[in-house]
Amino acid sequence: MTPIRIAVDGYASTGKSTLAKRLAAALGFLYIDTGAMYRMVALHAIRHGWASPDGINAVAINASLEQLHLGFARDTQGRNRAILNGEDVEEAIRSMDVSRVVSAVSSLVPVRRRLVAQQQAMGRSHSVVMDGRDIGTVVFPDAELKLFVTADADVRAQRRFAEMDAANPGSVSLAEVKSNLLQRDKEDRERLDSPLLLADDAVVLDNSSVSPDELFDQAMNLVPRR
Ligand code: C5P
Repeated sequence: MTPIRIAVDGYASTGKSTLAKRLAAALGFLYIDTGAMYRMVALHAIRHGWASPDGINAVAINASLEQLHLGFARDTQGRNRAILNGEDVEEAIRSMDVSRVVSAVSSLVPVRRRLVAQQQAMGRSHSVVMDGRDIGTVVFPDAELKLFVTADADVRAQRRFAEMDAANPGSVSLAEVKSNLLQRDKEDRERLDSPLLLADDAVVLDNSSVSPDELFDQAMNLVPRR
């Protein structure tokens, strides 16, 4: 059967990944977190001294892409783990250090080309629910369903802060999290190659004041029946 592709795009921390994971589980599709792939490239660059809040070494990052193997695995509880060259980096890629540089790293054209090609290959062999910024516009412009999730900036910041604080108590402040989200949104919207855009045929879902169950039900009702 031809694979079905569901694109879930939107700003940072709108609840895209929670929704995408639930849709994938309900439909029996593969869930792909494309943000984790850009975060793995950013982590690799930080570790080699090629990315910091002061700037990035684009030449070194682009030259290293051949050596990068980005994969996913599941732990014993079925949770997704990001695997960079064989190492489980799921926690490391969620740090503020990575969040500070990931938008700059993801604006590099060779990085995007390589990751988009991998994402398209996954969607050729499997039905997928893929979350990111350019899935409905660039990766799968002909996706069977395109969702674009939005939410109020304070709701998003609070949600992300709670996650980060639970994982690493006292490591970040709410103000720092909010300013990082807004900065990433700006960089993701303004980059020249595949900026964050609302696809013409995407359905907008507002996650500011609905429960995860309500959002899931709204999305499930839009899934084409076969
Ligand atoms: O989804 P998440 O917030 O983890 O994504 C981290 C960053 O990766 C985004 O802020 C964006 O810069 C980049 N990204 C992207 N294209 C995607 C997914 C993520 O540029 N499809």
